[in-house]
Amino acid sequence: MVTGGTGLVGQGIEEWVSTDPTAQAEEEYIFLSSKDGNLLNMAECRAIFEKHAPTHVIHLAAKVGGLFNNLKYKVEFYRENMLINDNVMECCRIYKVQKLVSCLSTCVFPDKTTYPIDETMVHAGPPHSSNEGYAYAKRMIDVMNRCYRDEYGCNFTSVIPTNIYGKHDNFSIDGGHVIPGLIHKCFLAEKNGTPFTIWGSGSPLRQFIYNVDLGALMVWVLRSYDSVDPIILSVGEEDEVSIADAARMVAKGMAYSGEVVFDTTKADGQFKKTASNARLRALRPDFKFTPMAQGLAETCAWFKANSAVARG
Ligand code: NDP
Repeated sequence: MVTGGTGLVGQGIEEWVSTDPTAQAEEEYIFLSSKDGNLLNMAECRAIFEKHAPTHVIHLAAKVGGLFNNLKYKVEFYRENMLINDNVMECCRIYKVQKLVSCLSTCVFPDKTTYPIDETMVHAGPPHSSNEGYAYAKRMIDVMNRCYRDEYGCNFTSVIPTNIYGKHDNFSIDGGHVIPGLIHKCFLAEKNGTPFTIWGSGSPLRQFIYNVDLGALMVWVLRSYDSVDPIILSVGEEDEVSIADAARMVAKGMAYSGEVVFDTTKADGQFKKTASNARLRALRPDFKFTPMAQGLAETCAWFKANSAVARG
């Protein structure tokens, strides 16, 4: 059972599972949305677990947003994520779920740190103040995974994806993440004949993972990764790109040929968050990531075809 199954990550899992022979032949997947029940509410959460009786859970449902929303709504990001996570974890204990995989984020890592960041550093100092509500709520998933294991023997773990992009994202310009925001802005720039304006200097560096690649890796974690310790799911350090380069790839993917402008009056956020994928690479040396230009081209094509119905 996948909570938050209609979101960017859930849809990546669904797309990958639809192509995987083992999943098709031997597994049954249920993708939930908020319409199946509000996970902020324990009674509704329990009703979901009673209805579906899941053996395995991938927990994605969360209040998610970009830098600007995180800055503005710290209390809501903390409270809603704490409530959702508490309800889902406790139901996994009550209903004897065999394995729970939850989703952290690289935002959880300390602001002042050495690079590359790795899984041992989750609690090694305060997160960046811009997203501390979200980051502390996410850190508590890792704390509680260990508590549930120690006290109840639960098989809970978590993954830490870097920045994710793909079809079915939230393409909101004000409240969304960087790639979908860039795609939407580029689309409007082309349509209105206005410049394609990137917020900030374009110099921050990020690692981006395509949601279908993340889907493949999350199902592998569910099946085969049995440690309570989180695992970073990311492209390598050598594949880090600047926001400016990502914007240029978006412009190419959108076939935009107009002017590209950087609005340096807008905040940049953390300069870099370089994460090591050594733990993943030791276990999955074979895994091939989709090249970013290809993933972005597919995402841009999807947005062009679905701009009327896409979120945001
Ligand atoms: P989305 O915002 O795309 O999707 C969120 C999902 O959660 C939707 O299915 C939504 O349902 C559901 N949901 C939200 N609130 C509730 C609620 N109260 N009750 C039930 N369901 C709810 O999120 P993503 O796919 O981007 O993120 C998935 C996970 O990955 C999250 O835990 C997030 O923190 C993490 N993550 C995301 C990153 C990213 O770049 N996007 C980066 C790192 C981690 P509905 O469709 O009905 O609204």
